[in-house]
Parts: sequence; C-alpha cells; structure tokens
Amino acid sequence: MEPLLVSACLLGCPCRYDGKSCGCDNVTALKDRFHLIPVCPEQLGGLATPRLPSEITPNGVFMKDGTDVTYAYRLGAETALMIAKTLDVRYAVLKAKSPSCGNKQIYDGSFTGTLIPGSGVTAGLLQANGVTVFNETETDILLQLPDTY
Ligand code: SF4
Repeated sequence: MEPLLVSACLLGCPCRYDGKSCGCDNVTALKDRFHLIPVCPEQLGGLATPRLPSEITPNGVFMKDGTDVTYAYRLGAETALMIAKTLDVRYAVLKAKSPSCGNKQIYDGSFTGTLIPGSGVTAGLLQANGVTVFNETETDILLQLPDTY
C-alpha cells in the first residue's frame, strides 16, 4: 500500500494544543487504500500537550503569550520531512488552518481568528520537497488518484 502522512489529530490522537483530538471518519477510512503514517509535527518538535495556541507572523512563530516557538516548529517540520523521505511518501493529509499543518490558509498572527492564504510550517516544507498536501476536506481527491503503487 502507498504510504500517506496524516496529521495524528485527524486520526483521533489527542495531540492538539488544547489536549483534544479532531478525528475525521473520512480520513480514517483512507486506511483501506493507504498505509497511514500519523505524525504530529508540534509534538515532534518538542512542544508539550496541552500548550498555548501559536500563530505564524512575519518574524517567526509565537505562542499567544509571546513565547517564540519558531525553533520547535522548524524542528517538527524537518522531522516530519525526514519521515516522509524515509518512507517515500508522495501525499499527505494534514489538518486545515494549523500553523504547522495547514495547506491553504493560516491565521494571521494577530490571534483574532483572521485567516489569510498560506501554509503551515510543516505543510510548506513538505510541499517544497515534492509531497502533495491535502487537508481533511479534500480526501475525495486522493481516492480518485490512480492506484499505481
Ligand atoms: Fe494536529 Fe498538526 Fe496540530 Fe499536531 S501539529 S495537533 S498533527 S494540526
């Protein structure tokens, strides 16, 4: 089966900043077609759970209290990329709007709930290295891809 990198929170892992998960049945159902590889880049970068929410700014990634967590976000992204390369991953399904995992939109750094176009740190690094990143609302596209593995 083709390996598929997946945000661990989408598979029910309580790794979100608030200590909860956000399991999605349509993501779990991909196990019939793909070998699911759960990753949580923020935990891989060494951040605790629960933790304060963070957002990306032009100067790095910061928690709501102003703590600079740019290094942890980069470390998590590099580790997720290392896993992807080790397993020859071509596709990923990552949580939308996350400062690590978002593939199309992120919050603007003001902690006001304002979304802007952009990618999370991990999603951006994966995409720059040839991994196509979908979010949890786009799993239909994955299922329509030819099964060439
Ligand atoms: Fe989920 Fe990604 Fe946030 Fe981890 S970093 S909790 S996998 S959205």
